Amino acid sequence: DVAARAVDVWKVYGSGEAQVVALHGVSVELERGRFTAIMGPSGSGKSTLMHCLAGLDTVTRGEVFVGDTRVSGLGDRALTDLRRDKVGFIFQQFNLLPTLTAEENILLPLSIAGRKPDRQWFDTVVDTVGLRDRLRHRPTQLSGGQQQRVACARALVARPEVIFADEPTGNLDSRSGAEVLSFLRSSVREYGQTIVMVTHDAGAASYADRVIFLADGRIVDELREPTSEAVL
Ligand code: ADP
Ligand code: ADP
Repeated sequence: DVAARAVDVWKVYGSGEAQVVALHGVSVELERGRFTAIMGPSGSGKSTLMHCLAGLDTVTRGEVFVGDTRVSGLGDRALTDLRRDKVGFIFQQFNLLPTLTAEENILLPLSIAGRKPDRQWFDTVVDTVGLRDRLRHRPTQLSGGQQQRVACARALVARPEVIFADEPTGNLDSRSGAEVLSFLRSSVREYGQTIVMVTHDAGAASYADRVIFLADGRIVDELREPTSEAVL
């Protein structure tokens, strides 16, 4: 069962002298209910691949699917719908709205989509990330680790087809990073969430079920059930 798929995806930025081929015909299937990490050095195309899969960026050639939806070829309007209804995002910089409380931030994707929150699921998610006593706090009143846990809850509460996490531990100390990664892993194990995480940190990637290695815009290696020694 496949949650997202890239088929011979090419991505070219710019033209002429300034042309950069960021992806050279990448094909990959991301299984549903799995935690996949995409690793590779800076400039290897990790963010580009994630953005193409998530409908944040268009492909130059090839096809991308999220669930049954063929993402490549969708217009701007349909891409907006896809991002709202089918995918969740976690960013390095948390990207919480500063004027909203933690609870309002968590519920924002549902209110934008005009969906009613399932209170029981909301409570489950909030308890799993350990934010029960921080729901009325605004982002500036929370530590970095707590803010990222709010962002995780916000992604998970909408039960998206796939959660895309771009360097989610990049701004966290190792303890807060480990908490966030444990939460991501348990949301996969316990709730069947599908997660795709971009990272250049081998320690972070070792939380995943599968690691895909990119170099110069190509998949060069892959590991199942990685240990941190194997990823390094
Ligand atoms: P990574 O996430 O692995 O660091 P990126 O996907 O950000 O790699 O970048 C892959 C390549 O594409 C790099 O050579 C980068 O300079 C280039 N690139 C990324 N985004 C753009 C852009 N908007 N315009 C031009 N080149 C870009
Ligand atoms: P964590 O265990 O999430 O890493 P810390 O140990 O950094 O949290 O912070 C302990 C407490 O201090 C947190 O519960 C939080 O409420 C508060 N706190 C941390 N950073 C900030 C901040 N920048 N502004 C306001 N309060 C903060």
